[in-house]
Amino acid sequence: MALLQISEPGKSQDPHQKKYYVGIDLGTTNSLVALISNGFPRVLKNKEGSELFPSIVSYKKDSVIVGEYFNDSASITFSSIKRMIGKNIKDLNSSDFYSPCEFIGDDSIVKFKVFKNLLTPIEISSEILKHLKNITEQTLMGDIEGCVITVPAYFDDAQRQATKDAASLSGLKVLRLLNEPTAAAIAYGLASKKISKIMVYDLGGGTFDISILDLNDGVFKVLSTGGDSSLGGDDFDYLIVDYIQSKLDIELDSEKKYILYLYAKKIKVALSETEIVDIELEKIGLENTKLTFSRDDFNLLINDLVQKTLKISSEVLLDANLSVNDINEIILVGGSTRTPFIKYSVKNFFNKEPLSDINPDNVVAIGASIQADILSGSSKEELLLLDVIPLSLGVETMGELVEVIIPRNSTIPTSSSKEYTTFKDGQTAMSIHVIQGERDLVSDCRSLAKFIIKDIPPMLAGAARIKLEFQIDADGILSVSATETTTNKVTSIEVKPSYGINDSQIEKMLKDSFDNAHTDIKSRHLNEAIVEGKRVILSINSALKIDGSDLLNEKELKYIYKARDELEEMLNSGEKESIIDAVKNLEKVSETYVSRRMNSNIQKIMKGTDIKEFN
Ligand code: ADP
Ligand code: MG
Repeated sequence: MALLQISEPGKSQDPHQKKYYVGIDLGTTNSLVALISNGFPRVLKNKEGSELFPSIVSYKKDSVIVGEYFNDSASITFSSIKRMIGKNIKDLNSSDFYSPCEFIGDDSIVKFKVFKNLLTPIEISSEILKHLKNITEQTLMGDIEGCVITVPAYFDDAQRQATKDAASLSGLKVLRLLNEPTAAAIAYGLASKKISKIMVYDLGGGTFDISILDLNDGVFKVLSTGGDSSLGGDDFDYLIVDYIQSKLDIELDSEKKYILYLYAKKIKVALSETEIVDIELEKIGLENTKLTFSRDDFNLLINDLVQKTLKISSEVLLDANLSVNDINEIILVGGSTRTPFIKYSVKNFFNKEPLSDINPDNVVAIGASIQADILSGSSKEELLLLDVIPLSLGVETMGELVEVIIPRNSTIPTSSSKEYTTFKDGQTAMSIHVIQGERDLVSDCRSLAKFIIKDIPPMLAGAARIKLEFQIDADGILSVSATETTTNKVTSIEVKPSYGINDSQIEKMLKDSFDNAHTDIKSRHLNEAIVEGKRVILSINSALKIDGSDLLNEKELKYIYKARDELEEMLNSGEKESIIDAVKNLEKVSETYVSRRMNSNIQKIMKGTDIKEFN
């Protein structure tokens, strides 16, 4: 008899919990979660009804609290941890990040001394994501099956990878990382436009980011980015604090100042709705002096900072070789763009009404939720959302030359492979040098990584086959694997800093590659001729060692040696044509010998591309 199933009292009768796909805006100041529900975006609220989850992590001796700021000595509280994700100790020392505790670290990571533990920014950020996951799953009474997390467009590979690691630590499955400005453009439905240039002006609490996107047939490309990582709405609050202090002619202690700062924030937000506010000083424990603060006063205070954002906007336009008239859409993102003076200034600067109908706090999370919905497969829409790689990726081949494996502007995700062979007889190791850039010579490009393939079975030069595969995932992270095809042994690495380069550097590298195209081609041809010469000498030498004296008489041997020595001398001449001629001569002189070596591989040795031998 079949057993009856009895459900546990109080538990859901449905064994299949609901599954959700969400978009997460992991912000420096605030984080948000959104999802598509019945065809419409919905932004999740916390218990207090707010859609913003402060990105604050507070550690006590035995517990962690997310979302609340604790100023007491029993807590270690991190705010703006996003500023530290994927950064190293040098970055921390040179940044304006305030660390609430001691820290250690090295070239790759920072670790904070939090009571008895050493915690990385990845672990601290994962607490925020864990908190968002728990609240979402409780509210929706289901599981998050997958998510799209947004990151600033300028985030490099290390920062992207660290964000992904934080997500995995929190138990979230990341379907895709999405650039914040791209998310904003998706939220406004701009992805359906054929061609468009979109400027995204994002002013949050502590950071200002500006990006220009180029949308072409469903492919978003980041043309240029800029900003100021220590300029945001919080600076407006400090200005109000200073203003009130100077009006009252008092200097407050740090505790009172903090209370005034929180009040200043409220005043600022109120001024986005009203023209004038009464400052109620008794609310913050001060004597009730009559003081009012108007929108005009506020505008005057923040004018310098607003002008600074516009100056940065002009620079970013210049970087992309565009003028304000080339921009088709401007999107306002970030809580601080609610300030009427900012809306007005941006509109004036671009001579165009910016898009601001969608709540600027929510717009990034909404875009991410649309993307998550599409990736979950439940949406009918088929939005192609591709990014492109900014610079070509390749490897170093003999002669310190770069061979491109994935050309710049390839849409990602993508993969490509090429086969390489050994340069010397019996070669058992190869050094793979991954390069980024547009120039022909390795020294003019950027070195991304080096790794070594070992245990190649000893064979004749040119007989081994090494398949190199480059893969770039949808988040722009490159992995390189090398397979030795006779043994099928795979060596692979994940290359971290493939984006770790800013746009002006990219532009410089591109410009250099155009400016130097002619000399580059010349050096490439010369280097190729030298490599070819060395290869022919090596293969002749190794063949002669095996059977030279058996197959050739002394006179014949002398001819070959002479031609070989002439070629050897020519290699340093710097004259491509002479080297090619000397190679031809050596090959001609060796023809009889080659034909006598019935079973030799010599012809094979003279073909193929080699990678530098590891030594
Ligand atoms: P982040 O992207 O850095 O996480 P947000 O986009 O959430 O930041 O923006 C937070 C900032 O927006 C804070 O400085 C906050 O005071 C400011 N802000 C929020 N609402 C308003 C408003 N109505 N008027 C002006 N500033 C606001
Ligand atoms: Mg933001």
